[in-house]
Amino acid sequence: MNKTIIVSNRLPLQITINDNNLAITPSVGGLATGMKSVHEGGESLWIGWSGLTEEDLDNDLVEKVNNAIAREDCAAVSLTQKDLDNFYYGFSNNTLWPMFHYFMEYTAFEGEYWESYKEVNRKFADTVLQHTDDGDTIWVHDYQLLLLPGLIKKERPNTSIGFFLHIPFPSYEVFRTLPWREELLNGMLGADLLGFHTYDYERHFLSSVRRILRLDTHFNEISYQGRTLRVDSFPMGIDYDKFRNAAIAHNKQTPEQKSDLQKRLDAHLQSAPDAKMILSIDRLDYTKGIPNRLRAFEYFLDNYPQFKEKVRFILLAVPSRSNVPQYQLLKKETDELVGRINGKFATVNWTPIWYFYRSMPFENLIDLYTSCEVALITPVRDGMNLVAKEYIATRTDKDGVLVLSEMAGAAKEMNEALLINPNNFEQVAGTLKKALEMPEEEQKERNIFLQQRLERYSVEKWAGEFMKALKATKTLHHVIV
Ligand code: UDP
Repeated sequence: MNKTIIVSNRLPLQITINDNNLAITPSVGGLATGMKSVHEGGESLWIGWSGLTEEDLDNDLVEKVNNAIAREDCAAVSLTQKDLDNFYYGFSNNTLWPMFHYFMEYTAFEGEYWESYKEVNRKFADTVLQHTDDGDTIWVHDYQLLLLPGLIKKERPNTSIGFFLHIPFPSYEVFRTLPWREELLNGMLGADLLGFHTYDYERHFLSSVRRILRLDTHFNEISYQGRTLRVDSFPMGIDYDKFRNAAIAHNKQTPEQKSDLQKRLDAHLQSAPDAKMILSIDRLDYTKGIPNRLRAFEYFLDNYPQFKEKVRFILLAVPSRSNVPQYQLLKKETDELVGRINGKFATVNWTPIWYFYRSMPFENLIDLYTSCEVALITPVRDGMNLVAKEYIATRTDKDGVLVLSEMAGAAKEMNEALLINPNNFEQVAGTLKKALEMPEEEQKERNIFLQQRLERYSVEKWAGEFMKALKATKTLHHVIV
């Protein structure tokens, strides 16, 4: 029987070891949910790094861990701390991440990182090949594994390989600056189907293929080494029912069932008849436009003083890659901006910004999504942005306004949101005012369409559509051969 193999940098598992006792908990993230139907249906295997390095595991433990992972229909790729430093923190997060998000000045061009990226992609390939037979279908995920499709295809040409990029693919003018541009494109072209969140990323990729590799493309097809590859966009959705149902349950809570956070949020809303809250949630990443957002909020309070003591901005910034200097700098800048703005406007009764630097449990995220009238999501560059979608899904009464950056992939499917350019702080401030004053009727009109679309194109549907298209490319080969 043919298998389906999913490959991502991290396995969808959390492994903890306490005094030689192992605990494995499945991850609950969006990708894990989306892949559930793919992973559970028939024979399938998920291959990735376990989250533990070779240095973390002594010989006795390795077998124990591998057996436990195998029981979850997964297989681990073994990585050393050095691999992690150079492949993951290095090439993936210090070269590809900034470059693909148009942060050229943050992009490191280090030969050592590149060597490690090649070696680790090779390690992934070796593990995949151990488990793969002719006829299998393999779905490779994301920017850490751009070389993997090529490495697999070379040794198992009779497999069907899909690749999905979860971050933007930059314009040719940016991508061309990478010294290893040909190798990366050739690696990606090992796939039979290449998926991106938006048509623009797809277009950028095709343009790089044409101009760097001098290959012909025909609409969304590429002829390469005797095969015909398809390139398409598959905008990733969310687990709509999970967020909607959680919001329905949340809205039925008795006062005793409410979380402490919810009680504090309620207290603000009751402090004045027209008190409102604005929400933003993101990892503390330079792509998310957090300083821009704070400056726009300051400009908003300066120019529309009628909102003072009424509006509270809740900024949830989740710690991320905090050992990388640029992230440390961003943390410092964010701390200072919040301090300065709070210092400038606070009164004895009111602090304009509530700033949380931590991650929050799911229940608290639902408290925030359901309590805030406006979500202000202003990345300077973002592959998709699931928070924007989650916010809309929780608005069970159909009120609430989403202010969303044009630079987020999600903006392409969320035209009814108020779209802004995150670098235009006058526009952001003006739009924030419009959002806070928007009649409820208009809010509902907009959200009806947004919710319908999110419900229809859930993360399960996204995974299903990708797999369907991958199966169709198989047929395409047969026809051509
Ligand atoms: N999230 C979370 N814990 C938090 C805050 C956010 O698990 O404390 C989740 C959020 O629900 C969303 C994801 O993190 O599903 C962020 O995804 P998004 O696409 O917005 O941004 P990314 O971090 O992938 O760049």
